[in-house]
Amino acid sequence: ATPMAIMVGTGLGAMNGILFKNAAALENATKLTVIVFDKTGTLTLGQPDVVELVTASGVTETQLLSIAAAVEKFSEHPLALAVLKRAGSAPTEIASEFTNIDGQGARAKLGADAVLLGNRRLMQSENVNLDALAAEADRLEGGGRTVVHVARAGTLIGLIAIADAVRPTSKATIAKLQERGVKVAMLTGDNQATAERIGKELGIDIVLADVLPGQKAAEIKALQDQGNKVGMVGDGINDAPALTQADVGFAIGAGTDVAMESAQVVLMKSDPYDIVGAIELSRATLRKMH
Ligand code: ADP
Ligand code: MG
Repeated sequence: ATPMAIMVGTGLGAMNGILFKNAAALENATKLTVIVFDKTGTLTLGQPDVVELVTASGVTETQLLSIAAAVEKFSEHPLALAVLKRAGSAPTEIASEFTNIDGQGARAKLGADAVLLGNRRLMQSENVNLDALAAEADRLEGGGRTVVHVARAGTLIGLIAIADAVRPTSKATIAKLQERGVKVAMLTGDNQATAERIGKELGIDIVLADVLPGQKAAEIKALQDQGNKVGMVGDGINDAPALTQADVGFAIGAGTDVAMESAQVVLMKSDPYDIVGAIELSRATLRKMH
């Protein structure tokens, strides 16, 4: 690659809101065989809303929401914000001893009772019996909802179903990359059923779900070990190690500072379709050198 072509390429990118931090990123982007997208906040808007409540017998929706909100008040997770938004006015109960369980949920105390909330795996590891609402959880996850299970004193009291709309250009981005010969994967801490449903809707080739935050980089490495050149697109603090591990990391501009620092390319418009532009620009730039 001549310095001149690289300058023209990065300049054109910048004019279109695609910031290549270095020449290597522009060159490596031509070689990518797989592009891995984070789900939440990258393929989806990252603005989740509560769409349905399911309560165990003897529990009201108001009780379920107020207990969940008392705990989520201490969390910074986007799902916590959705629960608080739905709960509206300040929860009447005050939780204590809040602990975040990274990539799974949270726990706290409400009076003498332990409250646990989060995904199915967390409930199972704490031996909470899910049988009473398992069919409902399956239905919701099969519909692409993220289900927050809520347990009080070891008993499941309800489910909070949360939806996060996909970005308008996500589907076209994936189709275009596949047309260009690039495989597309989705990486998420969300559960398999929800991820598969969204993956199917978007036409994703490889769905990697139930991945703990600390394991995301290892999933990228595994794809590289299979002989792939891997691009990773993400927005969260969670995604930073995977963005670093990837051959080219792309950060969503509206994402966290950590993601933008870890990536070699920043998509200023926060539009996943700009990945297509980035690949096309890099291919055009490199073609000019030969
Ligand atoms: P992602 O990869 O989508 O960013 P995370 O790794 O942050 O997801 O979380 C994975 C899963 O853990 C979520 O889908 C959710 O089920 C559960 N979870 C994590 N934190 C919370 C929380 N504060 N409240 C409810 N559920 C949570
Ligand atoms: Mg994300």
